[in-house]
Amino acid sequence: MTPRPPRPPLYPSYEEYRPPAPMDGCEACQEFAARRSAAQAAFDYSAVSDANVRLRAHLLDAHSRT
Ligand SMILES: [Zn+2]
Repeated sequence: MTPRPPRPPLYPSYEEYRPPAPMDGCEACQEFAARRSAAQAAFDYSAVSDANVRLRAHLLDAHSRT
């Protein structure tokens, strides 16, 4: 018997609906958020997705947050 995972896996579409939120007061977070805003303003969705991936990786790495 194998233990069940606590949460279902994340699917690509999840990024669209639940983008990671930057932490207040963290320069790196603000930088990623600014890049994401610029990409959204330019309708560059691959750049938006890229910024979200990088921000989420940074949140995990620097803030132990998902
Ligand atoms: Zn940060």
